[in-house]
Amino acid sequence: MAIKLSPNLLQHVRFFHSSASSFTVVSSSLSLAETLIDQKPCPPPKQQLLDFDDTEKLFSSVTTTKMLKSLLNLHMASLNPIVDLGVWVMKSRLYETMFLKEAILTMVKHTFYDHFCAGENLNEASRTLQGLWNDGLKGILDYGLEDANDNGSCYTNLNEFLKVVESTRLLPPSSVSYACVKITAICPISLLKRVSDLLRWNHKDPSFGLPWKVDALPILCNKSPFYHTLRRPDPLTPQEEEDLEKAHQRLIKLSQKCFDMDLPLLVDAEYTSVQPAIDYFTYSAMTKFNKNGKAIVYGTVQAYLRDAKERITQATEAAEKMGVTIGYKLVRGAYLSTESQVASSLGYASPIHGSIQETHACYDDCTSFMLEKVYKGSAAVCLATHNLDSGRWAAAKAQALGIGKGNDKLQFAQLKGMAEGLSFGLRNAGFQVSKYLPYGPVDMVIPYLLRRAEENRGMLSASTLDRQFMRKEIKRRVKAAIVGSESHKMETA
Ligand SMILES: Cc1cc2nc3c(=O)[nH]c(=O)nc-3n(C[C@H](O)[C@H](O)[C@H](O)COP(=O)(O)OP(=O)(O)OC[C@H]3O[C@@H](n4cnc5c(N)ncnc54)[C@H](O)[C@@H]3O)c2cc1C
Repeated sequence: MAIKLSPNLLQHVRFFHSSASSFTVVSSSLSLAETLIDQKPCPPPKQQLLDFDDTEKLFSSVTTTKMLKSLLNLHMASLNPIVDLGVWVMKSRLYETMFLKEAILTMVKHTFYDHFCAGENLNEASRTLQGLWNDGLKGILDYGLEDANDNGSCYTNLNEFLKVVESTRLLPPSSVSYACVKITAICPISLLKRVSDLLRWNHKDPSFGLPWKVDALPILCNKSPFYHTLRRPDPLTPQEEEDLEKAHQRLIKLSQKCFDMDLPLLVDAEYTSVQPAIDYFTYSAMTKFNKNGKAIVYGTVQAYLRDAKERITQATEAAEKMGVTIGYKLVRGAYLSTESQVASSLGYASPIHGSIQETHACYDDCTSFMLEKVYKGSAAVCLATHNLDSGRWAAAKAQALGIGKGNDKLQFAQLKGMAEGLSFGLRNAGFQVSKYLPYGPVDMVIPYLLRRAEENRGMLSASTLDRQFMRKEIKRRVKAAIVGSESHKMETA
């Protein structure tokens, strides 16, 4: 299996070799502030707010045993033959053999599962979250629910989401930063596709009426992909309209619960084939709950999409006019290959930026735009990324704008077990940082673990920097222990 080298990671590695000493905490100067305010993203500023050089400080809350375990797991995930074998076994008939399956699940549980997941049930996940809270991080509990195909499973899933939100009452105040939901678990996928088709056709031809449509914020723009809907779709049947209303009410019920508990709700982003319908639901909940300067419902924008910046700009400006505080979780996007495959199978260009550099630039551009809105008080953003450059860029821009570290409208998030260095660096600089905590029975989260294994495989994978940081810190601790015991011997001699 060939290793795909990410130019950005190469850039990180080069940066670390050439200028390790520049990772020191420096307060931003006036000239830095002037450079950053009202500017398009530029290369990360030289002065760094985040300190990744002092690993003693970075990993001060992590025991050596835990670090060694993490290092081992990440190292195994970086070895292509191990990941290939794991993926093959999971997808093969061998996995269906009773005894073998149990043995595999036990092995996975004590390695990758413990590393990337928060526990098998809500109690275990809550304990993990409390541990993070003690370390100065917050948590986002995410029960690994399946996509729904009918109303019955949508209601079952809704109850699970409500249970998670309710459980946060028992946790330390503000240890949970957000609740999260995926619309594909509370609205049947087939309906999301139908609604997305209709919204796309309505965008191209506004005379194509949608009687059920509630006016909220603009969803699509002219740059958005329209190839999913090549023919004029049939209007929704009465049954579909009824199901749509039910799905809408499910999201309203969950949002109301979050509103009552003052807990913001992140709505995940999925494939472009269904994303217009997801945004439609999200924006209608936003216009109901995000009032009086509060952001309760957050949508998700995937910066790898070519239309990302234009869509957030038009929706945010419309929200400002309506007095709605828009909230976004900003990600790069997780469905790169599927999106490109679907587009090419239909003979269209991919909706994804042509290069990873363009995705990075778009992410930082969207970050910049949202931070200025946060500064003005008209929007909220959760920067969900493992990318060190983006973390540094955002931290410097927020500092330059003078966004207070306690301002809930700016938060950072990483997945559990990923980018620990970035999480700790941001935390040490005073920012609010959350870890996304997927939980559920081991066999239920296997697809999630396979995605994490895929991301971390290869020498220059997403975990490369974390492994470097951890190795450095372990070496430092070993040295300190040796020096400590030597001087103890000398003292007692
Ligand atoms: C808290 C949290 C919540 C998330 N929620 C969602 C969600 O709701 N929906 C969702 O889709 N994803 C979600 N993700 C995953 C996210 O989209 C990314 O897949 C993941 O975080 C890796 O991106 P990164 O910003 O960490 O940066 P990096 O690791 O620096 O960048 C990798 C990303 O760059 C992009 N990329 C890679 N190669 C190319 C290329 N050739 N051209 C263009 N772009 C390229 C891809 O998006 C890839 O994932 C979430 C991530 C986190 C941390």
